[in-house]
Amino acid sequence: MENIAYYDGKISPIEEMMVPMNDRGCYFGDGVYDASMAINHVVMAFDDHINRIYRSAALIDIEIPMEKAEMKAILQDLVNRVDSNSTMLYWQVTRGVGMRSHPYSGAKSAPKLWAFVKPMKMTDPYGLYQCVTMEDRRFYFCNIKTIDLLPSVMAAQHAVENDCYETIFHRGNRVTECAHSNVHILRDGVLHTAPCDELILPGITRAHVIAICKKLGIPVVEEPFTLEEMMAADEVFTTSSSALSTRINRIDGKPVGCRDEKTFAAIRDAYQEEMKQECGLL
Ligand code: PLP
Repeated sequence: MENIAYYDGKISPIEEMMVPMNDRGCYFGDGVYDASMAINHVVMAFDDHINRIYRSAALIDIEIPMEKAEMKAILQDLVNRVDSNSTMLYWQVTRGVGMRSHPYSGAKSAPKLWAFVKPMKMTDPYGLYQCVTMEDRRFYFCNIKTIDLLPSVMAAQHAVENDCYETIFHRGNRVTECAHSNVHILRDGVLHTAPCDELILPGITRAHVIAICKKLGIPVVEEPFTLEEMMAADEVFTTSSSALSTRINRIDGKPVGCRDEKTFAAIRDAYQEEMKQECGLL
């Protein structure tokens, strides 16, 4: 198949899938999601993503009505049915279906699993990318991968309108993350990345990058860094599951980073190698 969608046991091409209007995801964004790439039908860091959606769900009091192994089997089956060997797997769990009412005690049904798989290429890890910055006006649940994404949608559009790859968020002077990725800097051979609090999503790629740095002997500091520190850093890069490491050379039109290619390339290449071992990168 070219693509596939799943809703609560129903399967069809994405364009034909119909979902109930009363699903609380439609009214309130009341649900959580996760996403990863599947290369050669192997989902990258699958267990990490499965674990994260269960953690996100627990943080908003959603009890997913299936075991992790069952969810994984349903999703793997969808991935297997799509012909392309480079796809994105997206899935979400919403609180359930019920007449619109803010308190969720009225959601009469069990939580619902939604998913789709579509062909998608990974972002080129050897490119150079530009970003813009924006005040981070999201709420304090950024550690939860909620489907309630309006500020990220606005920020991603802002990037597109400025011919940029990503929007980097900051709260005052503190850099948090991006619309759909984490952001990190290298300074004097040290990786600086924001700590995992309620202001950032604990990115799976971020966690892998930290583990790689530790393996390579690159020191890691998980502390807030500022806009000025980012603009003056030796390297700035973003990470996400669809773009493992994306080197940034311009922010708000000003040149940044690109002064420690050796360290950046060591991290990037170690990650590419890890993924090649896991799923045989294209
Ligand atoms: N931060 C935000 C806000 C995101 O939406 C994402 C990915 O969707 C990330 C960070 C990167 O997370 P991961 O590396 O798990 O894809």
